[in-house]
Amino acid sequence: MGLFSAISEWKEAKYRKRVKEMEEAGKCPDCRGRGYNTLVNDFIPATYHCTGCDGSGRFEDWNKA
Ligand SMILES: [Zn+2]
Repeated sequence: MGLFSAISEWKEAKYRKRVKEMEEAGKCPDCRGRGYNTLVNDFIPATYHCTGCDGSGRFEDWNKA
């Protein structure tokens, strides 16, 4: 196993764990149930409508996509 595949496996496991936690909480894993994401661009925080759940923040909607 190379270093890259070890890292991607670790990321994959971490991602699956988060998805499972969010599923149990009924929240969208992309935005953690907020319905939007915040990105910091040039030190100015900007909010973006979450495309994963279409802004609802619900796991059901995220899972449909
Ligand atoms: Zn979302």
